[in-house]
Parts: sequence; C-alpha cells; structure tokens
Amino acid sequence: MFDLDGTLVDSNPVDSQCYLQALVDVFGFDLDKIDRNWGNYPHVTDAGILQTLCQVELGRVPTAIEIGDYQCRFLELLVLAVSQKSLQSIEGASEILEYLSMDDNYAIALATGAWKQTADFKLQQTRLDGIISPMAYADDAHARVEIMKFAERRSLEFYRQSQFETVTYIGDGVWDGIASKQLNYNFIGIGTGKRAVDLLATGARSVFPHYLDIGGIMSVLST
Ligand SMILES: [Mg+2]
Repeated sequence: MFDLDGTLVDSNPVDSQCYLQALVDVFGFDLDKIDRNWGNYPHVTDAGILQTLCQVELGRVPTAIEIGDYQCRFLELLVLAVSQKSLQSIEGASEILEYLSMDDNYAIALATGAWKQTADFKLQQTRLDGIISPMAYADDAHARVEIMKFAERRSLEFYRQSQFETVTYIGDGVWDGIASKQLNYNFIGIGTGKRAVDLLATGARSVFPHYLDIGGIMSVLST
C-alpha cells in the first residue's frame, strides 16, 4: 500500500506551495500565522489540515461549498505550476508498481492523504495512473489510518481475498510510520538524509531513496 506525495511522486514542495496559496486565495488566511510543519497537525491529510486550520482561524469547520471551492483553486494552482515545471515520479516508481502487479503474491493499492482530484492529476502527469488501484483518498476520511483501512477493504474486494497475510505501507512521512504502527502494518520509508533517519526511528523496517533497487525492496517486503 503506497502513499502518493513524496512516495510515488516528487510533489511535496509544489503541493505544499499550491495548498498554501489556495488557503490565501479562498480563505484569505495570513500565511505567516500558519504552521507549515505538517507533522504538528492531528491528521496530515489535505482534508485534515484544512479542517484544523479552519477551526483555528475561523472557529468552525469548513462548509462543503468552501471545501469544493478550495479543491478547485488548489487544482488550478497545481495545473499552472506543473505547466511551468513538470512533475516527476520518484525514480523507479512505475517499474516497482508494474513488477508487483505481475506477481500474484502481491496486491497493490494507493492510500493517499491527497484529495481525489489533485491525486488523480498528479498520477496522470507522472503516468502512474492505470498501474495502481484500488485507491483511497482524503475524500474518504480525514485520518490517514481511516484512509488506509478504506484502501485495505477495497483491496480485499478488488483482489477477491478474505484477508492478506501482511500489509506493508510505503511512505515518506513520519505520520505514515505512526499510522502503520497503529494499524499493525509493516512500514517501508522513502527518503534520504535526516528524513531517512526519522523514518527509521518511527519504525521503518528499511528506508530507500527511490525504487531502483527492486531486489532490495522485495527482500524487505517478503520477510
Ligand atoms: Mg507523503
């Protein structure tokens, strides 16, 4: 089970930049007052962060109309940014997804904290659409663990299984490791430098900078 941003797609900086600009454009929030350390939010998902910010800044949760307007503006900004600088997948992402999808011992799924419309756009731009399903998004739940549970339930149905022997979540955030621990999933980190150290400290069985070492990743997945 894969996270999307920073895990399959090298999208974290542009995604954060557009997310923040949409907060200004739609809600008029003052960026200087916004905590950009996403790990400090109770739910590190597009929906969860927006809800927390609205509670802090407006004293209430966003309305459905506000969420719709926000999602539209966020996507518009992302489309514009990607037209200026194309989005790249993490190296080897399509190869590992194709490799896993050919092996009957494995089922693959996406569990992302992004909303469906921006997630689908990022997958299309990096040509990863069509090789990973089923999917669960921030539209399904605010909490990452709930999104992951949706992805697991959809996978059982999609792959016609009554249960999986083990589930491994692959992610780039400390919150991905914490969510994996809560669900008793194995966790593999994607990252380098300090991020890699933090992911190992969160319980990652191993951390890879990308997916070029398919053999190495498969050996961690299979043990
Ligand atoms: Mg991520």
